[in-house]
Amino acid sequence: MSKIAPKYIATTNACKLCKPLGAALAFRGIEGAVPFLHGSQGCATYMRRYIISHFNEPIDIASSALGEKNAIYGGGANLKQGLNNVIAKYNPALVGIATTCLTETIGDDVGMILHEYHREQENNTKSPLMVQVSTPSYSGTHMEGFHAAVQSVVQQLARGGPTDQRINLLPGFVSPADLRYLKQLLVDFGISATVLPDLSETLDGPALRDYPLIPRGGTPIEDIRKMGRGQATIEFGHTLPEKTAAAFLDKTFQISCKRLGLPIGIRETDVFLNTLTEISGRPIPSEHDAARGRLVDAMVDGHKYVFGKRAVVYGEEDLVVGLTSFLAEIGVVPVLCASGGKSGRLRRAVEKVLAKMNVPLPEIHEDLDFFEIEEQARELAPDLLLGHSKGYGLAKRLEIPLIRVGFPIHDRVGGQRILHLGYQGAQNLFDRIANTMIQVKQDSSSVGYSYM
Ligand code: SF4
Repeated sequence: MSKIAPKYIATTNACKLCKPLGAALAFRGIEGAVPFLHGSQGCATYMRRYIISHFNEPIDIASSALGEKNAIYGGGANLKQGLNNVIAKYNPALVGIATTCLTETIGDDVGMILHEYHREQENNTKSPLMVQVSTPSYSGTHMEGFHAAVQSVVQQLARGGPTDQRINLLPGFVSPADLRYLKQLLVDFGISATVLPDLSETLDGPALRDYPLIPRGGTPIEDIRKMGRGQATIEFGHTLPEKTAAAFLDKTFQISCKRLGLPIGIRETDVFLNTLTEISGRPIPSEHDAARGRLVDAMVDGHKYVFGKRAVVYGEEDLVVGLTSFLAEIGVVPVLCASGGKSGRLRRAVEKVLAKMNVPLPEIHEDLDFFEIEEQARELAPDLLLGHSKGYGLAKRLEIPLIRVGFPIHDRVGGQRILHLGYQGAQNLFDRIANTMIQVKQDSSSVGYSYM
């Protein structure tokens, strides 16, 4: 119940990115880790280009550099040689190995190759930890690759033992600004937590005189090991599959899992902060309470500029769900929720967040490309688009503004500094949308529109 009929034979600019790219991002958020693609150099180059243009930070993604011959004879020898090179050059604490379309298609048994590699390296004390994840891109999106990598890391590293006071927070793929916000929020609640992964420094670090081969930051491996002893796990995502890192921790170590939506907008943020109150036994810290109050005030003040505007929202499924909830809160009518993902859970998730709001249900479609989104959008006559940079062409043709959120944003600077989460994130989004609507009014007025 997701694809629009008729189905097209060709895909035009898919509304998703490649699965191992998401895995590489997740590995980048672990201290001392190097992401490694078992595949061709072209795949690694594409991913580096995408990530660099969004974050404006260097990222090394190693690869086993497979060529035509490996498609026939297998990539085992290249994988082992690639690992030797990475270990010699980076001396990493962990190598995160993700497969690509090619290695999945030829059927390389990465587990077996790594087993052989470890046996051959038995006396080598420099051998780092290795985590592997299967990420055939033809069967999923970058978000699914991201979550699969997080799950593999937890599954392969977490250890049990006496419960300690820490909680586990699995935020999914959010911006470095979002991660900094989440970490500060936890401090304000007095909660010790392992946030996995943590890209807040590794993909948004300060300018340095010397380029470090592995950037500072990321979730410490020791903390990941302790995740099997946590007090509880919070995991963001209404569209996640049953098997996730949190589900593994629950099943293996009996750590209760609270699955929440991305805290975008007031309602979903309220749910998150109330959960932190429940865990910590502390009331919502006054500064966050005040931020909520300012947000409500701003919404009242700016309501006239946004009320009744129609929006198309596209991108990663959970981001679409969160943004849809937020838009409905501020009086914008979401008319199309579109994603390239196909979890089969998008519709239910959107229905759930809109259930208590008196708004008509938008068109909700999974597995879309931008050709299909455009066809739908032309009929729905939206006033604005919300999504990543891939919608720029569409916005230009429709002659409506694009509010850039999520990933990738490579036609503006500061993608990594966009705060989507919490009351402050909602405040920023609200101001951007209201000001954009004012700008549209000004630009389209023949007599000027300056004092409001
Ligand atoms: S071939 Fe597959 S793994 Fe490689 S970049 Fe393309 S989608 Fe990603």
